[in-house]
Amino acid sequence: MRSKRNRSSKPPSMGNAAIDDLMKMMYEQGKAQFGSAVKSFWFYDGDLCPACLQNFAGVVNYKGKEGLAINGFMYRERGVLISYFLCEVCALFIHEHAQKHPYQQTPLHVRIETNLRDAYHGHLALFN
Ligand SMILES: [Zn+2]
Repeated sequence: MRSKRNRSSKPPSMGNAAIDDLMKMMYEQGKAQFGSAVKSFWFYDGDLCPACLQNFAGVVNYKGKEGLAINGFMYRERGVLISYFLCEVCALFIHEHAQKHPYQQTPLHVRIETNLRDAYHGHLALFN
């Protein structure tokens, strides 16, 4: 899957500075978690949620609060830490699953990782 929009796509309620801060935070967390395995960092900025490829990714309502469900996926083969947003449905599904079965992957994670790898390769192809 290839992202049709460019870097201008972002959740409407956030400015660029806030996005930058989030990215920085993700990067620092990734470095702390994966150490030198992190060679680079990429933000998946596709419109659609990388889990279901149906809903828009972005702002999630959780317990009456609006938030951004930012997630990170370490693509080890490429040494790239990919951050992404999910849609509300998938974010809540994963959140609930994690409460019941901590540290366990769901079939949704597998789909997310496959789609993110594809998106990343599509992104690389644009610049080669
Ligand atoms: Zn979704």
